[in-house]
Amino acid sequence: MSGINRRKFLKLAGTLGALGLAACTTAPRKGSKAKVVIVGGGYGGSTAAKYLKLFNPLLDVTLVEKMKHYYSCAGSNEVISGWHDLDWLLRSRDGLQTKLGVKLVKAKAVEIDPQNRLVILKDGSELPYDRLVLSPGVDMRFDAIDGYDLKTSKFIPHAWKAGKQTTLLLNQLRAMRNGGVVIITAPASPYRCPPGPYERASLIANYLKQTKPRSKIIIIDAKTQFSKQELFLKGWQDLYPGMIEWISSAKEGQIDHINPTKLLVVTEFNSHRADVLNVIPPQKAGWLARKTELADHTRWCPVDPHSFESTLIPNIHIIGDACIATPMPKSAFSANSQAKICAAAIVDLLNDRQPGPPSLINHCYSFLAPDYAISINGVYEYSGTERQLVATAGGVTPMNADRQLEAKFAKSWRDNISADSFGG
Ligand SMILES: Cc1cc2nc3c(=O)[nH]c(=O)nc-3n(C[C@H](O)[C@H](O)[C@H](O)COP(=O)(O)OP(=O)(O)OC[C@H]3O[C@@H](n4cnc5c(N)ncnc54)[C@H](O)[C@@H]3O)c2cc1C
Repeated sequence: MSGINRRKFLKLAGTLGALGLAACTTAPRKGSKAKVVIVGGGYGGSTAAKYLKLFNPLLDVTLVEKMKHYYSCAGSNEVISGWHDLDWLLRSRDGLQTKLGVKLVKAKAVEIDPQNRLVILKDGSELPYDRLVLSPGVDMRFDAIDGYDLKTSKFIPHAWKAGKQTTLLLNQLRAMRNGGVVIITAPASPYRCPPGPYERASLIANYLKQTKPRSKIIIIDAKTQFSKQELFLKGWQDLYPGMIEWISSAKEGQIDHINPTKLLVVTEFNSHRADVLNVIPPQKAGWLARKTELADHTRWCPVDPHSFESTLIPNIHIIGDACIATPMPKSAFSANSQAKICAAAIVDLLNDRQPGPPSLINHCYSFLAPDYAISINGVYEYSGTERQLVATAGGVTPMNADRQLEAKFAKSWRDNISADSFGG
């Protein structure tokens, strides 16, 4: 079937579905005979593949990932600071195949046919599924800030996806003069890794303090407050006095536009010139989820957090940054936690059992220096009446806590989450 014919066919099938005349040919397979396909082999998708196999080793589990190499965003601020090489961020999924029997497919998924429960790959091949898990991460909203688009991002990095973008920002910081100004723009919520921009400012300051101490960092924020704010502000005062300036939108309003040739950020009431400009634009659910109409008007995907099944299309589960799991933040820890709940729920649903009420956790560490870290954590339970999550416990590093100990915890968390998520 040609691409155009397929599209017409899918449209027709969608219309039939809306009329209650679903064209699906086969009934879903049950129990161990079922096929689960996962698209996206980052923190969410890889964890889901692993735990599906752990919960039922007989399940047919296929993980589709378009990129040959996965560079972890978690840890990428440390690479920018020069503590590690880029390759330190590489995560291998080989263990998922060799130890657990997950089928790994390196391909871009270009279409989902929910009526016939098929994932269509770029080469035209089709993967049938009984349950589909999507963890496609985020896309940048290149239409959100006047003057900043995909083309501009090739020389004004966002570095909000690790890899080439991380190296671009790192190289610009290395080339910057002593006394230069680094500007980071931080988006409004929700976005990937709420404390990330402030950790980045801290670790750039850590690098500049040692190499170009007359330099300055300005954060131009679309928000009026941010994650772990008190702790960051205290840390900046203690470690990098006078080096980091945070500008709230209450002071300067929102960004009006960016002048990419002059590296100028123009806000409603002021303008700032950068030597190195790092624009972190607003974000949205990954392309495939939006294309399949799994995202709502917010550009994120509504799910029932009981099983992370889409509230818009049945048999498709969305986890990680792409889903709406408020009040959980969009983090690797959240994606990992959601993947386990989703995997357990899928195994239950395939066996005609009702999944139990979920309990999820998140714990986000941020480094301010190699031996100085802070964290925030939360526990989330399911509220059946509202079909959403509520925070039932949580907190941040106490002001008088040992930051060196937190840094040790942060390092071991990173090793553990990588091993847990990628089948190591
Ligand atoms: C600077 C920074 C620092 C961070 N630090 C932390 C931290 O300390 N702690 C923490 O918990 N979180 C941190 N995060 C957040 C964390 O990286 C993300 O929340 C996490 O990666 C989300 O996992 P995911 O599975 O939703 O998406 P991703 O990990 O982005 O994985 C999505 C995958 O899907 C693939 N994909 C997408 N579309 C397709 C398709 N059509 N076909 C095939 N494959 C596809 C992509 O190639 C990608 O590999 C940080 C993020 C940033 C930017």
